[in-house]
Amino acid sequence: MTPNVCVVGAGIAGAGAAYALRDRAEVTVFEADSIGGRMVSGSRDGCVYDYGANYVDPPDDQVDTQLQSVVGDDLVVTTGDVWIFDADGTIEEGRPNQGRKLSGRNGIDAIVEAYLDASGATVHEQTPVDHLARTDDGWRVTVGGEDHSFDALVVTPPTCEDLFEDADWDDEVREQLIAARGRQSYRTIDSVALHYPFEIDVPYYALVNTDKEHAVGWLSRESCKPGHVPDGEEILIVQLSPAWSAGRPEAMPEAAAAAAADHAATLLEDDRLADPDWWDHDRFTHALPGDRVNPALFEYALDHDLGLAGDWLAGTGRTHAALETGLDAGRRLGQQL
Ligand SMILES: Cc1cc2nc3c(=O)[nH]c(=O)nc-3n(C[C@H](O)[C@H](O)[C@H](O)COP(=O)(O)OP(=O)(O)OC[C@H]3O[C@@H](n4cnc5c(N)ncnc54)[C@H](O)[C@@H]3O)c2cc1C
Repeated sequence: MTPNVCVVGAGIAGAGAAYALRDRAEVTVFEADSIGGRMVSGSRDGCVYDYGANYVDPPDDQVDTQLQSVVGDDLVVTTGDVWIFDADGTIEEGRPNQGRKLSGRNGIDAIVEAYLDASGATVHEQTPVDHLARTDDGWRVTVGGEDHSFDALVVTPPTCEDLFEDADWDDEVREQLIAARGRQSYRTIDSVALHYPFEIDVPYYALVNTDKEHAVGWLSRESCKPGHVPDGEEILIVQLSPAWSAGRPEAMPEAAAAAAADHAATLLEDDRLADPDWWDHDRFTHALPGDRVNPALFEYALDHDLGLAGDWLAGTGRTHAALETGLDAGRRLGQQL
């Protein structure tokens, strides 16, 4: 009989796990919110904008080739380079020969969607997993008051310690997992999309603050991604620094949007940018992991038919690293099922 596997979370790590299991198991993915996780896109008035992860930068040709074959024509390459700026707002050219920066023509979440489509998995959005229980021969997963049995489980969310704290699973690995996640830090980022009915003429795609002393950590132009912004318009993505966000835990979206627009105007020396014609905002409380957990936990968990994946395991807030953990968890579980 074909084994069945449950994947918790439809971010890029969960999608990678489902993809790696495609010929080995029947996979069911439960996602609390929407496909993509932090690879999230918005759309409005003919514009598309990536306001979580900005792009995937494949670390090598193998990953690049896989992305091209899985995502196909929907994959787009961002034009322009990333330049740098410091605490005083002084802008300088970035490093040469920057790699490919990939998104989806209709948003970066299309990349996650493509991996899930190719996996053949059954995906349930807006369906949070409420409870986990280890059984004699696998895992019982409770969703919306209903129990489902699986031969194996892959857990990806950066908030996974909540699930493990409540789990019926009496084992040392569970304690180690909860403790490791409890020690791990995550940075908070307020991300704002600002729309303008005019083009912004600058020679770069994005600016990154290298000394971490500016209120803006990242500023980029969605018009550099084919298909995202109609000619004659611009969407700036302004990510306020973790220090800005951490210092204002109660900040309302309006405050973040106003700060983002004011800083954009000052940084780019263009007063018009202080007054966008519309904006969007999200606060990511688990934006980027500050450190990694003990990688041996991955091996220990496999002994319990449990795959661990996600950027929390990789210890770096990069989409390709999260994807790799998912592919790895799926491959390893597939071999032992
Ligand atoms: C503002 C910002 C900018 C970034 N910029 C970049 C960038 O430019 N390049 C880059 O490579 N990386 C970037 N990153 C990091 C990148 O987005 C992440 O490392 C990556 O997307 C993590 O993927 P993941 O699958 O591990 O986690 P997630 O994408 O967080 O996926 C986990 C999923 O689990 C779901 N979930 C949670 N609890 C449950 C539950 N109980 N039941 C079911 N589902 C559940 C969540 O809803 C979520 O969809 C950025 C991140 C942020 C926030």
